[in-house]
Amino acid sequence: MRQGGSFQGKRILPRSWFNRWKRFAEEYDGSREREAVTRYEILFFQERCTGCLRCGLACSEIHAGIFCPDRAYIEVLEGPEAYSVRFSEACNGCGACADSCFYDALRKKPVEAEP
Ligand code: SF4
Ligand code: SF4
Repeated sequence: MRQGGSFQGKRILPRSWFNRWKRFAEEYDGSREREAVTRYEILFFQERCTGCLRCGLACSEIHAGIFCPDRAYIEVLEGPEAYSVRFSEACNGCGACADSCFYDALRKKPVEAEP
C-alpha cells in the first residue's frame, strides 16, 4: 500500500510519519557511539518493502545532517512489481536504516570486526 502523496512529482511523507520519525531520531541518539564500533551487513526483504523512504531519511539525517533521501547511502528504487534498494559504496554498515524500517524489510547481520 502506498502512503503519503506527491508534490511537483516528488514523493512526500504524511506529517504523522514525520512526527514518529522525530521521536525515533531522539531515541536513536543514545546509540550513536555504539554504532561507531558495530558494523552490519544489511539484508533486504523485498516483499516487505512499502517504499516509505524512512531508511533514506534515517541515513541522510545521521550521515548528512539533513532529512533528504537523495543524500542517503541507501537508494529505494521503484520497480513495476516491487521496490528494491541499492547501497552506495559510502555505506558504512551502521544499521540505522534497518533500525528505522517499520516493516522489517531491512535487517542487520553483525559483521565480524577485522583483527
Ligand atoms: S526498506 Fe523499509 S524503510 Fe526503506 S523504503 Fe522499504 S519499507 Fe521503507
Ligand atoms: S547501513 Fe549504510 S545505508 Fe544504512 S544508514 Fe548506515 S550508512 Fe546508511
